[in-house]
Amino acid sequence: MTEKLTSKIAMELEDKYGAHNYHPLGVVLTKGRGAKVWDVEGKEYFDFLSAYSAVNQGHCHPRIVGAMVEQAQTLTLTSRAFYSDVLGVYEKYITNLFGYDKVLPMNTGAEADETALKLCRRWAYDVKGIDTDQAKIIVCANNFHGRTISIISMSTDPESRKGFGPYTPGFIIIPYNNLDALKEALEDTNIAGFLVEPIQGEAGVVVPDDGYLSKAYAMCKEKNVLFIADEVQTGIARTGKLLACYHEDVRPDILILGKALSGGVYPVSAVLADDEIMLTIKPGQHGSTFGGNPVAAKIATAALEVVIDETLAEKAEAMGKIFRDEMNNIDSDMIEIVRGKGLLNAIVIKPKNGKTAMDVCIKMAENGVLAKPTHDDIIRFAPPLVISEEELMTAISIIRDSILSFG
Ligand code: PLP
Repeated sequence: MTEKLTSKIAMELEDKYGAHNYHPLGVVLTKGRGAKVWDVEGKEYFDFLSAYSAVNQGHCHPRIVGAMVEQAQTLTLTSRAFYSDVLGVYEKYITNLFGYDKVLPMNTGAEADETALKLCRRWAYDVKGIDTDQAKIIVCANNFHGRTISIISMSTDPESRKGFGPYTPGFIIIPYNNLDALKEALEDTNIAGFLVEPIQGEAGVVVPDDGYLSKAYAMCKEKNVLFIADEVQTGIARTGKLLACYHEDVRPDILILGKALSGGVYPVSAVLADDEIMLTIKPGQHGSTFGGNPVAAKIATAALEVVIDETLAEKAEAMGKIFRDEMNNIDSDMIEIVRGKGLLNAIVIKPKNGKTAMDVCIKMAENGVLAKPTHDDIIRFAPPLVISEEELMTAISIIRDSILSFG
């Protein structure tokens, strides 16, 4: 039997041999089940990050892991050079579930976003009739769509962008939650698409005004512009509906999914659209060796079935209300604002006596709840949607005690 590493040694190894592109909280996890994780010393925590909303179905969900193991022992990868007896079945299931003609399977969220950008540009030239290389896509300030060169080219976050130029052209950046700015930008006849997060997750769970998405969608339709929703973080029941766009009855022209599409057991992402858009890309013009592999196809099917069968959207809606109510009842001047939808929530922290959101997260970790600040002053709270009400109440009392410990 191999000996378990101590936390200290595991952190030293990552620090010495791994790139320093993350700044993790000082816990070393070894096991997860449902809404809980354990560190190598055996300490138990509630996971209130869920791998940035990838683990909506809970850690190591037996049905998803079971589907993965069974397929992994049968056939793992064919590439798309050949058909598999699994991919088409998954494609039928996911397109029926979300109501689109076709799906294009990829692996990470960033790849799916890149795919959507390519599809949008291709549609602009082949269907809308924009002149070659003139297509533009509107995006929002403070967006987060991943880390590739084109995606950081449309970012307004200096941390993500600075020092990585030259940048991909063709993006118009407007303020989020601002319909006047969208209206003005849509006047340009070379606009092909509007890419938007229904709630800006990485920006700090920024929830737009009611009606923003549905009005933005209608404005795009009026100008024959594709409405592209990045639901990588908000999708798959996280916000209390299967898609965050469903809160406003919006059906995006291009839908981007990732993260919880696999329940967090494997990188699986997808882009969904109707034939008019999807069939503009022809064989050889886009792809991925691993995209749509048999293991991913089985995992994604199981992950979606779990969301439906265990009514996770309804649970997220109900638990989210409890969470926000309880947070609003904490009597602390460190809590500036509580916001969110379903189980995608955040607290904006006002520093007190030099203590910041990071100090609150360190204190919560000591007490058994894991969360991470986004930007310097916002803590996102996004537990697995399978969390029980009893577990939620225990976690809430830990969060309350941790915040109140700063006076
Ligand atoms: N889009 C959104 C809205 C995200 O929140 C993220 C990741 O946080 C991504 C895309 C990128 O996903 P990935 O890290 O799988 O590339």
